[in-house]
Amino acid sequence: MTRIAIIGSGPSGMAQLRAFQSAKAKGLEIPEIICFEKQNDWGGQWNYTWRTGVDDNGESVHSSMYRYLWSNGPKEALEFADYTFEEHFKKPIASYPPREVLWDYINGRVEKANIKHLVRFNTAVQHVTYDENKKKFNIAAEDYKNQRHYVEEFDYVIVASGHFSTPNLPVFKGFERFHGRILHAHDFRDAREFADKSVLLVGSSYSAEDIGSQCYKYGAKQIYNCYRSQPMGFKWPKNWSEKKQLVRVDEHRAYFGDGTSAKVDAIILCTGYLHHFPFIEDKLRLRTPNCLYPLDLYQGVVWEKNPRFFYLGMQDQWYTFNMFDAQAWYVRDIILGEISLPSIMEMQHHTEKKYLEEKALNTDEQKARFQGEYVKYLISETDYPNFDVDGVHNIFMQWQKHKKENIMEFRDKTYRSVMTGKIAKPHHTPWLEALDDSLENYLDSEGAKEKNFI
Ligand code: FAD
Ligand code: NAP
Repeated sequence: MTRIAIIGSGPSGMAQLRAFQSAKAKGLEIPEIICFEKQNDWGGQWNYTWRTGVDDNGESVHSSMYRYLWSNGPKEALEFADYTFEEHFKKPIASYPPREVLWDYINGRVEKANIKHLVRFNTAVQHVTYDENKKKFNIAAEDYKNQRHYVEEFDYVIVASGHFSTPNLPVFKGFERFHGRILHAHDFRDAREFADKSVLLVGSSYSAEDIGSQCYKYGAKQIYNCYRSQPMGFKWPKNWSEKKQLVRVDEHRAYFGDGTSAKVDAIILCTGYLHHFPFIEDKLRLRTPNCLYPLDLYQGVVWEKNPRFFYLGMQDQWYTFNMFDAQAWYVRDIILGEISLPSIMEMQHHTEKKYLEEKALNTDEQKARFQGEYVKYLISETDYPNFDVDGVHNIFMQWQKHKKENIMEFRDKTYRSVMTGKIAKPHHTPWLEALDDSLENYLDSEGAKEKNFI
């Protein structure tokens, strides 16, 4: 029987499992599927751990998420077209749920599909190779639960191992002398650690914005962030100041490109992540910066040089969960023979064209539109439920406007679902005052637990 391996059961791997299950539910015969997951549960980044460094099995900790993390974009932009928030929670909820609430949502869909038995948890893929003679992939895996190392053969492999886990760690002059803590965003876990401290965030993207906001919310004394290319340019609170590039540090101070300096207690490197696949042999390994249209991947998913090898979710992301779905349904239909691929030359030509198109984009509006058009194309090719992608684009534009208006209050806004047509319900507590991010407190209509949160 044809065998398919999925590496990783984060939102992308879960989407792939669900895609095959939906074909099976329609009466199609599907191949044998095995999903390898190195963590002890699914959910990928959304599977929070207090750990940093290594996990129970000595594998590097995967999730970069932290306590009190709330969605940074509206939930209406990531909603599944086949499983709405309303279906899951049975009541309207607000537009920016905390991590645990979103984990519950993605878990709900796949629990309903009854596919967890397809995942081998605590099993890390350590090596993937392709045998040209047999036309099979060999996967070497370590099963930590049963203390067993084995190799199995597969006809298709889908890599869904994520790309926001391996820190990009620049080093600045003087780091070895600095008296405070230096950490990467990947290892940030709890903003309360920085209460009453002066914190410097290096970087000017989502991690810098959100970790800085967390530190502000949980009582940091002073926040600085510094940018290499572009300032974030939001209207920051009084104790947050945006500086030019970090030049050097000494025991207590950070020195910036504009000639100013500041005394800081801790430095958090919000400098992004590397696409890092040490477990994949060279001829199959994706090497790309974080962008919207990586080279070598036809339609963002097919490894052109061996079109039985796929990657999911490797793009920089405006769209997330519903884009992973669109990709997973598309990959499923290639494997099931419903979609046929052009020649390698044609695939490469198409990808290069798209890659150059992306390079010419200047504004966020253009970039979000570019990825939206990509999602539209994928869903037009499969039976994934069609949804109003232009409507989602408009939600992104409103989101950006709301952030510009007030970066500490944008999470109090609500949006209309393009799936149900219904508008979200405001949360019981403004985000800045909502310190308890538990599912229980979030779903409690009064926010009763909030009052006792320390
Ligand atoms: P991941 O979620 O990274 O999952 C990959 C899975 O592969 C993991 O379970 C991992 O354990 C497993 N794996 C990796 N290597 C191996 C191996 N060798 N063997 C076996 N298993 C392996 N998106 C949003 O839409 N909204 C947000 O608010 C949001 N917040 C974010 C906050 C942070 C701090 C970060 C880093 C990302 C955030 N994202 C957010 C983006 C997030 O990456 C996606 O939502 C989503 O988790 C990507 O899914 P994925 O399955 O592609 O990858
Ligand atoms: P990112 O978007 O890739 O941004 C990396 C930042 O690091 C950029 O500002 C980049 O600057 C800067 N940088 C890289 N190398 C540098 C160097 N040597 N010196 C100075 N600056 C440097 O990464 P990210 O902000 O970590 O975001 C990753 C993902 O996590 C995103 O999908 C985001 O949505 C998600 N996230 C979500 C939340 C949330 O939901 N609450 C919170 C955090 C992160 P240049 O612009 O100059 O390249």
